[in-house]
Amino acid sequence: MEFKKNTVVTLDITDMGQNGEGIGKVEGYTLFVKDAVIGDRVQVKVMKAKKSYGYARLLEILSPSPDRVEPRCACARQCGGCQIQALSYESQLKFKEEKVRGCLERIGGFTRIPLQPIIGMESPYRYRNKAQFPIGTGKDGRPVAGFYAGRTHSIIPQEDCVLGVRENQAILEVILGFMEEYGIPAYREEEGSGLVRHVLIRSGFATRELMVCLVINGETLPKAQVLVDRLKDIAGMASISLNINTARTNVILGDRVEVLWGKPYIEDVLDGVRYQISPLSFYQVNPIQTRELYRKALQYAGLHGTETVWDLYCGIGTISLFLAGQAGKVYGVEIVPPAIEDARKNARLNGIENAEFFVGRAEEVLPRKYREEQISADVIVVDPPRKGCDSAVLETMLQMRPKRIVYISCDPATLARDLKILCQGRYKLQKVQPVDMFPHTVHCETICKLVRK
Ligand code: SAH
Repeated sequence: MEFKKNTVVTLDITDMGQNGEGIGKVEGYTLFVKDAVIGDRVQVKVMKAKKSYGYARLLEILSPSPDRVEPRCACARQCGGCQIQALSYESQLKFKEEKVRGCLERIGGFTRIPLQPIIGMESPYRYRNKAQFPIGTGKDGRPVAGFYAGRTHSIIPQEDCVLGVRENQAILEVILGFMEEYGIPAYREEEGSGLVRHVLIRSGFATRELMVCLVINGETLPKAQVLVDRLKDIAGMASISLNINTARTNVILGDRVEVLWGKPYIEDVLDGVRYQISPLSFYQVNPIQTRELYRKALQYAGLHGTETVWDLYCGIGTISLFLAGQAGKVYGVEIVPPAIEDARKNARLNGIENAEFFVGRAEEVLPRKYREEQISADVIVVDPPRKGCDSAVLETMLQMRPKRIVYISCDPATLARDLKILCQGRYKLQKVQPVDMFPHTVHCETICKLVRK
């Protein structure tokens, strides 16, 4: 059976897709329904119809799923930042576990999977240490902060995202009040005019330090001192800066930062390792779960103080430094040069002398170091972006024959693809541990331990 656009149908949602959308079937025809969750009986309107599947809009929930909950955030449906807030946290965790299992079975060809129960959060809200609010002008002409509505670039006001820290709201109120009082215009994307584009806020969970960075479409902020005087009264404020971005792009940050007050960075601490984080550095957004993840990495690495460890895709060296205390030597490899500068700085800050960092592509640096300098590895940790490891990285790892490989992944599909290659080599998959780094979203982090046979 084929459906026409605008047909209204009733169906049961029986599955959930990669992006958290509900999936149901009507007479063999598959419909994807955003905002519906497994177990819902819904009435929908077909918006786009293909031969064997289509996309439909949720009209009414006829009978709600037992796993459905009232989202804590009033804007959850419009915002899209959280795709599955309407699903109970317990079901979210189950969904992610099954997603990992499904990928390993289908893509990886694994049958007996050593899947550990996912590590969820005790309180899955207010976990983000970083927020980037777009600034715009409301219907009444006053400046607003919030999120982009759907795929558009109009801003829906929302100063208190439930995933972010409570301080976000107070900071935004100061900034918006200041802009209104001094007539400082928000950026207008269509024309490339106006000044304030985004507000970036970061918080060090362990240190309670706060950073505010205003992204502006210009060189200076009028009356900046007034804003500084108001912001620095907020408890924990440690760094106030401007980021200059005059490019007509939807990339949020430009590459120049000017400090207005305080330090050019804030600090955070994870299990005794101290990290300096500047506005432009990458840092994991959920520090509570990052600590769980890094502890697993340490456990899976099984270090005794003498090992040579490689940390590929190391970012600012967070994992390298976390492992350095229990290793003989750690080498980190990362493609972004400023991240490596941060890594070296953070090593010095912690008095760590056995970590060395290389800038470059993992797929070039690792084979080169192995062939030309015959460097070895007892343990290799990889934490690649979503596309996974390049085949040259996997091949070199197999040639280097480390005792253990720790694979950290933010995409179960590419993880499964890469594990298949490693396990067709000489490795055995010993542990698969999902960690919920991003509650209420469909994203799923997994850490795996492989041992040499
Ligand atoms: N392990 C770090 C960061 C992981 S994010 C942490 O836990 O904080 C993945 C990192 O891989 C990013 O910093 C990205 O810049 C880097 N990267 C992407 N492609 C790369 C490549 N081909 N070679 C080396 N690093 C790469």
